[in-house]
Amino acid sequence: MLGSCSLPSSLRRLSCELVWLLCVLQVSAILFFYARSLDPPSASDQDQQENMAEKTQERPAEPPRGEEAGESGDKAQKSGGNEVESRDKAQKPGEKAEESGEKAEESGGNEVESGEKAQKPGEKAEESGEKAQKPGENAEESGENAQKPEEKAEESGEKAQKPGEKAEVSGEKAEVSGEKAEVSGEKAEESGEKAQKPGGNEVEPGEKKLQECPKISPLLMGPLRVEFSSPVKEELIKKENPRLQPGGRFRPKDCVAQQKVAIIIPFRNREEHLKYWLYYLHPILQRQQLDYGVYVINQDGDATFNRAKLLNVGYTEALKEYDYDCFVFSDVDLIPMDDRNTYRCFSQPRHLSVSVDKFGFKLPYIECFGGVSSMSKDQFLKINGFPNNYWGWGGEDDDIFNRVTSKGMTISRPSGEIGKCRMIRHSRDKKNEPNPQRFHRITHTKETMSSDGISSLSYSLVKTEKLDLYTWISVDLGGP
Ligand code: BGC
Repeated sequence: MLGSCSLPSSLRRLSCELVWLLCVLQVSAILFFYARSLDPPSASDQDQQENMAEKTQERPAEPPRGEEAGESGDKAQKSGGNEVESRDKAQKPGEKAEESGEKAEESGGNEVESGEKAQKPGEKAEESGEKAQKPGENAEESGENAQKPEEKAEESGEKAQKPGEKAEVSGEKAEVSGEKAEVSGEKAEESGEKAQKPGGNEVEPGEKKLQECPKISPLLMGPLRVEFSSPVKEELIKKENPRLQPGGRFRPKDCVAQQKVAIIIPFRNREEHLKYWLYYLHPILQRQQLDYGVYVINQDGDATFNRAKLLNVGYTEALKEYDYDCFVFSDVDLIPMDDRNTYRCFSQPRHLSVSVDKFGFKLPYIECFGGVSSMSKDQFLKINGFPNNYWGWGGEDDDIFNRVTSKGMTISRPSGEIGKCRMIRHSRDKKNEPNPQRFHRITHTKETMSSDGISSLSYSLVKTEKLDLYTWISVDLGGP
């Protein structure tokens, strides 16, 4: 400043003009760039943007959920107590909601959808807590509790149901708390459907149209006592099940059952076991308000036993008789100890015999799918039924498990408490030796399942007979 005051006036004017000129130039430059920014983008700008958009669309699609589940299914999880975790645990975060949606479909808080814990901490499995005992008898304390301590379930309240004794109906209903009665999402019968009689007849004109049965039967009793100390007579079973129709058929009198269930029992030379099964199961299935039929599929001849092929036969033969939408596949020597273990179908294939006394009331391994299982018709067809080429004991149930998971389905299970069962002890049957090929075969399910299954089933029917307590179907399966 001091310097500029000492300049001659002509120079001062010049420098003022120069400053003025610089200001004008600066303002024009600002105006120019501002105007440019308002212009439409050039062609090259647009190209760039579209390319970006295309790139986003070209991103590979997410793999279908089924494939994911199948893949993750290869990761076996360990099982503990009655917590049943399945292979399909490894889900992507985005799929979590879907999975939990499935869980809600199952019948309750004590249900175990694969990949999920049996119960949330702090939630009680059964609230029934009834002490239904025969007079003078102490309630059977099982002491073989498969539950984790924090999930303590009521062990008491087993209903007396010994052979030869009338099942004690306390009048109190077993509380099926938490059971969120939902039928198989795939095949729930809508109430608008016509009521059917066993045999497929529709309601006659003038006949009263029945309401659909409740999702949870009000007749359930909860834990039951099951034992095999005294043999059962067929006459007694008939006497105690007066409403059974020929062929071991039943449907509720006052309502239309939620599901039409065919119970398929693979069989050979186990007459005593079958009587126990009929003695215990008929009353249970009736209390569960099912529209059901019992099919005993006998393997005729003395070829090696083939359980899975007999089950395929059962599926086929039962459908010839009635429009069943659910199939329960049960070994003849397994008896449920709780009638809340409903012999019906769910949104996923179901493993029902989850805690068997023989295995200390624990699931022996997480992929276990043997003993008693259920599948809707759709689920069964999705896996092409069961394998026909497992001759002898073992492996066929593991193959079925592989089929289920490879098609993106999961295994649903009741809790360890509700899923308790007793197995009738027996020595190994002749012609049912362990199958040495099973280890190899179960590693190839994915390749074999489309060609070996219900689509390739062949057998010769030897005899079909409608007996009072069951339908007897004897078949020749051929041999290995
Ligand atoms: C067999 C199955 C059987 C299971 C439990 C497995 O080793 O492969 O078929 O159900 O053991 O006994």
